[in-house]
Amino acid sequence: MKDTSALSTATLGYPRIGRNREMKKALENYWSDVITETTLKAISDSVLNDALTTQSAAPIDSIAVGDHTLYDHVLDWTLRFGCIPSRFQNLTPGLPTYFAMARGVDSAPALDMSKYFGTNYHYMVPELDQHITPTANFDDFLHQIHLAQNQLGSERVVPNVLGPVTYVHISRLSGIEPAQMLDKLLPLYTQLLNTLKSRNVPEVQIHEPALVLSEAASLRDLYQTAFASLAACQLPINLVTFFDDVHVDVFPWMCKLPGLSAISLDFTRGNNLVTLKKCGFPSSPRLGAGIVDGRSVWTDQVSGRTLLAAIKDIVGDNVKICVQPSCSLQYVPIDVDAESSLPEEIRPKLHFAVQKLKTVAEIAASPESTSSSELTGIVEEAVADALQESLFVRQPKFEERRPQQFTVPGGFGTTTIGSFSQTPEIRRLHTQHRKGTMSDEEYNARIDKELAYVIGIQEALGLDVFVHGEPERTDMVEYFGVKLSGFTFTTKGWVQSYGNRYVRPPIIYGDVTRTEAMTVREFKSAQSMTTKPVKGMLTAATTILNWSFPRKDISREQQAYQIGLALRQEVMDLEKAGCKIIQVDDPALREGLPLKRENWEEYLRWAVRAFRLSTSGVLPSTQIVTHLCYSDFEDILDAIDGMDADVLTIENSRSGDEMLVALAKYGYSRDIGPGVYDIHSPVVPKTATMASRIKLFKECGLASERIWVNPDCGLKTRKWKEVLPSLTNMVEAAKIARIED
Ligand code: GLN
Ligand code: ZN
Repeated sequence: MKDTSALSTATLGYPRIGRNREMKKALENYWSDVITETTLKAISDSVLNDALTTQSAAPIDSIAVGDHTLYDHVLDWTLRFGCIPSRFQNLTPGLPTYFAMARGVDSAPALDMSKYFGTNYHYMVPELDQHITPTANFDDFLHQIHLAQNQLGSERVVPNVLGPVTYVHISRLSGIEPAQMLDKLLPLYTQLLNTLKSRNVPEVQIHEPALVLSEAASLRDLYQTAFASLAACQLPINLVTFFDDVHVDVFPWMCKLPGLSAISLDFTRGNNLVTLKKCGFPSSPRLGAGIVDGRSVWTDQVSGRTLLAAIKDIVGDNVKICVQPSCSLQYVPIDVDAESSLPEEIRPKLHFAVQKLKTVAEIAASPESTSSSELTGIVEEAVADALQESLFVRQPKFEERRPQQFTVPGGFGTTTIGSFSQTPEIRRLHTQHRKGTMSDEEYNARIDKELAYVIGIQEALGLDVFVHGEPERTDMVEYFGVKLSGFTFTTKGWVQSYGNRYVRPPIIYGDVTRTEAMTVREFKSAQSMTTKPVKGMLTAATTILNWSFPRKDISREQQAYQIGLALRQEVMDLEKAGCKIIQVDDPALREGLPLKRENWEEYLRWAVRAFRLSTSGVLPSTQIVTHLCYSDFEDILDAIDGMDADVLTIENSRSGDEMLVALAKYGYSRDIGPGVYDIHSPVVPKTATMASRIKLFKECGLASERIWVNPDCGLKTRKWKEVLPSLTNMVEAAKIARIED
């Protein structure tokens, strides 16, 4: 029983994938015609039912409903608003159109995918233009509400609605201004709110994460227009923000938006305590206090109560407080209790969605309890605490060292990004080795066979710089996590990356150190088979960190340096083993950028330093390569240059030459390998197309000897029958470029 001082509780969203990845299996079965639409929807409903039961049992008072999805909740809203781009309009309505927009069909490529507000969740970017006439179709949303009300009663069901300003803000608009688009959508929002009101919901959550962005201040007019419409429905509104603080320039007018019965803030990221201190909190709406971190896997019993006490201190006794997770719990795995092999000293420190719900309920029931039982990370003597500045600086400068490094006469050297086809045989090897049914010796021998195969292929193709193909890696982060100390792994800790793709991020729980060489054996083996240089292949510290759950007891900067130092040792060992070219992939560097622009510089400072820590110890003659999986880095050119790599390979084939022009204009003088073909597509690229692309690089002002020719990214997901003709054509295209140069 709750005492009278007890606080209310709410959730803001819950994992949609099912405890046993039911949704993934159901989707894949539906796509391959194994199950019908009816069965798919029945499975989906049962996953939702289970999520509701768990939240109800925690117990949570107000449960957010409506974010359950077959693929992506943003895409759901796009269909609910009937914002279907013209290329999908001839398809069968309903699921065929929905999945075509998600995954593409021959006649119409999918919507673009983009990271959702700096998380590792990807949403389908709505495409809105002036021709679109939104039409309402809220059936599936109302179905979720109905199902929840049946199970929980109407008092506890609070619809979770993606707010109109955020929806427009994260869309791609063409030929229409945000304000015009908003005007088109608002009648649908009011229609929805009126319907919800008639269904007896007590309140509605309007999720507006755009309010925490740097540009939020410029969205003020849009918010005022939107909330004037929404408030007219007279359904109480909980205005929900998360992932960062609401800036002091935004908070005062945000609080005055009409219709608000509650304002929800995230106290686990950014600094909303400062915002509250500076701006105060109005007395009438409830404060939804996001104090249980929905994006970390660590316990919150102590930190949550500490935050709550600090909040109460600032807002006083008159403000009603509701205890909440900081955001939807979809960013964490579902249940720690499902894990059977977590180290016993770590298990009690970990909380996934189910445990986070319990924490919310416990804190609300006894806010003051001062149990000091919270364990945070394992603090050992901090590794990488006192690093000399010289470890971050490579000597001599690029201009001086580059002539001592590997060069292809005439330039346009050909290479690949690292991985080759991960065949079923390779995956079988991994499984057998992991399960212990294959000995280390046998496994290594089989891996060596794979190395021999890819080396042979590269000889035959006539590439200039070889790779070993990464057959020993299941995943570019997990592979290193398993070998380094300080990481642990779950067996069922899946989180949705997008649609039917889920990942199990490693968990960093202690100081990261290297206990053994991680890549030297495979390098040596591959290099022994050829006289061509074979690249050493590592994943950069920032990428490892960004694709893991970090510790909370020390900073991400410190963790990046710990990993960076471990990689530095690996780099040095590779060099000792005769490796002349070492590639350190940093595809997730950009993904770690903070939401607020003003925090970018600080992040980039340490992210770049971590890269340099790993790579600056090598001889002048050793070539350091990096690879970035995107080409939109015009806004972080200083950071890219600051990495001080000798060669930069980037994804490029899907963009025009804007980025190369920007690099030339910037005065970027190092080697660069802009991808000449898209590895996401099974289509074999034509020699002529690639040759003209390479020509374009020259026209952008890059010098031939600085240009490398490579695909956009690794070839892991491509079949050999696609890889072989593609690379044959690529090598041919480079030859043409050399001759014509
Ligand atoms: N070396 C990695 C590979 O080729 C790079 C992958 C990536 O950039 N995501 O697979
Ligand atoms: Zn890549």
